[in-house]
Amino acid sequence: MKKVILIILIFVIVIVIFFATKNPLAKEIYDEAKNIKSYIVVKTSEEYNNLDSEKKYYRSEKNIRIPILLYHEIPTEKPTRDLFYMQTTATQFEKQITGLLEEGYTFISYQDLVDYYNGEKTISEKSVLIGFDDGWAGNYYNAFPILTKYNIPAAIYVVDDLVGTNGYFNWEQAEEMSRSGLVSIFSHGRTHIFYDKESVETLLSDIDIAYKNIESHVGKSKIRVFTYPYGACRQDQIDALFEKGYIQNMTDDEINKSNTMELKALHRYYVKQNESAYKIIRNINELN
Ligand SMILES: [Zn+2]
Repeated sequence: MKKVILIILIFVIVIVIFFATKNPLAKEIYDEAKNIKSYIVVKTSEEYNNLDSEKKYYRSEKNIRIPILLYHEIPTEKPTRDLFYMQTTATQFEKQITGLLEEGYTFISYQDLVDYYNGEKTISEKSVLIGFDDGWAGNYYNAFPILTKYNIPAAIYVVDDLVGTNGYFNWEQAEEMSRSGLVSIFSHGRTHIFYDKESVETLLSDIDIAYKNIESHVGKSKIRVFTYPYGACRQDQIDALFEKGYIQNMTDDEINKSNTMELKALHRYYVKQNESAYKIIRNINELN
């Protein structure tokens, strides 16, 4: 009798596993579950840094993929906006970060990327950058403590007109993040407008004013990086800003490759709000 029960039990388990791997939704849950194991290991930032023992390369040595992950607001609670890329909860953000660390990714800064581009620095084959658009308050209240906990560099693109207004962090908070040495405060415009509708002169003057303002609050950094609001730009504007020394981000959901990378038009990948680290890694390895 016991044998029969055992055989039935084994049969049921086999059937459940079979359907779990066939049904797309169940498959997703199954994949997530497989991935969760990497989140339950708690490591200090030092231990994470020790994971970074793999070989590093100069740009001329190997063509590698260098994703720039684009975030917006990092709210404490459940996202309230419909747009899938506008909000990632603090819990989900931390899971994404620790998942990437567990998989051996190293977070680098824009300065690291520029040094690598110029042949002055090596980076790991699994390097990744993080940036936040707009200067949302949750970047300070929720993302900054997580960045600090894991010692992760990041860039935040502020809009001068929005700093300190409802829903956005203020200049003191920007300065505090910048002073930590982990967060670079860069520009996302003097105002959040469609710059492709403006003349090259207006763009140049606006971004110059924006940077003077940023630097008066958080101090100067070696490089200036600019992100177009709505990703709206023209080629003549990209060229003119680059001539003035501005590194620029595109908003195109593509991945940089060392062979074709251009500092005047860096690609960025939109992180979706419910994405696991596993899915991010799959996408950054598959996308153009
Ligand atoms: Zn924006």
